[in-house]
Amino acid sequence: MTDTDTHDPTSLRTPIVAVLGHVDHGKTSLLDKIRGSAVIEGEAGAITQHIGATAVPLDVISTIAGELVDPDDFDLPGLLFIDTPGHHSFTTLRSRGGALADIAILVVDVNDGFQPQTIEALDILKRSETPFIVAANKIDTVPGWNPNEDTPINDTYDAQSDRAASRLDESLYEIIGELSDEGFSADLYWRVQNFQRNVGVVPVSAMTGEGVPDLLAVMMGLSQRYMKAEMEIDVAGPGVGTVLEVKEEKGFGTTIDTVLYDGTIRSDDTVVVGGTNEPIVTDVRALLQPRPLAEIRTESRFEKVEAVKAASGIKIAAPELEHAMAGAPVRVVRDRDIEDVIEEVQAELADIAVDTDEQGVVVKADTLGSLEAMADALGEAEIPIVSAEVGDVAPRDVSVASTAEDPKQQAILGFNVDVLADAKTRAEQDDVKLFTDEVIYQLVEEYDEHVEELERAQQDTILENISRPARFRILPDHTFRQNDPAVVGVEVNAGTIQNNNFVVTWDGNETERVGQVKGIQEQGEDVDEARAGNRVSVAIDGPTVGRQIEEGDELWMEVPEKHAKILEQELTDEIPGDELEALNMYLEKQRKRDPFWGK
Ligand code: GDP
Repeated sequence: MTDTDTHDPTSLRTPIVAVLGHVDHGKTSLLDKIRGSAVIEGEAGAITQHIGATAVPLDVISTIAGELVDPDDFDLPGLLFIDTPGHHSFTTLRSRGGALADIAILVVDVNDGFQPQTIEALDILKRSETPFIVAANKIDTVPGWNPNEDTPINDTYDAQSDRAASRLDESLYEIIGELSDEGFSADLYWRVQNFQRNVGVVPVSAMTGEGVPDLLAVMMGLSQRYMKAEMEIDVAGPGVGTVLEVKEEKGFGTTIDTVLYDGTIRSDDTVVVGGTNEPIVTDVRALLQPRPLAEIRTESRFEKVEAVKAASGIKIAAPELEHAMAGAPVRVVRDRDIEDVIEEVQAELADIAVDTDEQGVVVKADTLGSLEAMADALGEAEIPIVSAEVGDVAPRDVSVASTAEDPKQQAILGFNVDVLADAKTRAEQDDVKLFTDEVIYQLVEEYDEHVEELERAQQDTILENISRPARFRILPDHTFRQNDPAVVGVEVNAGTIQNNNFVVTWDGNETERVGQVKGIQEQGEDVDEARAGNRVSVAIDGPTVGRQIEEGDELWMEVPEKHAKILEQELTDEIPGDELEALNMYLEKQRKRDPFWGK
């Protein structure tokens, strides 16, 4: 492995590139196209497949990009593309102080425009202050498009009919408009002077390769111009990286796929890795890279290497990695004091750690980075978090969620994780709600909807237990029975008569209880309540018609003071207008007598 014989102590490393965008907009295809072009154009072995990443060296980029890239203009060694597209892996890829990816490509389907995950990706890029360009993909699908494989955009543009060209223009300007709606000033890349201030849009097709030369040229130019200083690293120094994935590997046990962004890691190094409980200190057993395709038939898919320098993707096999976390830091100890390195790892973990509240929902996510992104989104939505951890939803999480005092918080929000079978059963038993999704804001939305539903249901049950006001009149010639109980025909003017509640009359501003409703009939049928406008016959236990009550009298349903208070303070939106009117009249009379009644 030539990576070991570094003579120059400081050198420029490869910028790390991540590809983001909405599902199906062509992230994977674009990466495949870049890799494919690199394999075709490059000298044998020029492009190297890393673990989780593909390195495309400058000379290969310059061959693909033709006259768009003159290798003499550059001293950065090329670009390292992270193989797993999507903002999920992007948020995982953290380094101290921000995103690990130095630069990003946001893929947008020219026909489909901005979609939920496009906006989410933009939010993430904004928050992490990562420079990016937009690949306006699938230009070959513009009606009437005449494809010109692997050519720069200008050349293929010139070969299009006016109609096809103007259709593409329309779609591109739509994307530029949408970027501007999201607060980014953007333009077609060839019009952009300052890529730090403006976002460049590059029309491409991952299918035909049109525009791919431009995309690589812009990425390279942008990195060289604005990122060179950050790419200066001490190559010979102890390696620093981020765990991309924790994986079982036959013959090697638990391994960590790591992106190294600084220094060198050697196969005899001791490393400190961020773990779920505490930093893991362990000795590297093997550094593994994918075996070149030609040798694929041998036993292992991997070959051991002695050392790797940044930037690169490497699989580290070592004991005790079971509790390593995706998104956590990896640091080589080498000649340093081990305690110092442990402290650095702890500090980095603390940096990412999510602040939790006394009460709240349980949050699970697949990586530290995504956990942090979840916490940010929940914070914005003012949803408190009681615990936040990396990993699948387990029975223990259900136990934690089930102890929440507020039923709204008896919930687990899982981002990009599985729910273990026994956790699911347990959640059903304990009435804990599980929400899982692969889009953060959808997860938050689902939870919000659930909360709204709960609140509605809660108010419904409160309402069920409240005595509601009603104003009604005994109709003339409608006495069906004098007493025990009195049965009279009434018309409800406002509010709701409910069975078993008390009937009152007013003596000045004071109510006088005259009896209790013991049955309501509407057209011969028993009903539980009668609403404003209804004519019903009501059995009232207590009074005698002609003595305590008379035909033509206005009667009221009694509202106990506590109920009046809840109705006025919490439920005015839930009850009909006529009932609110009855309530207000009721309150007004009571308050003439006692200004603080029901307050
Ligand atoms: P991802 O979900 O963003 O990774 O999207 P994929 O790369 O899987 O692409 C989704 C679909 O779009 C696949 O069927 C691709 O073949 C297709 N696709 C991707 N890029 C292009 C393109 O430039 N032109 C055309 N015609 N189809 C494309």
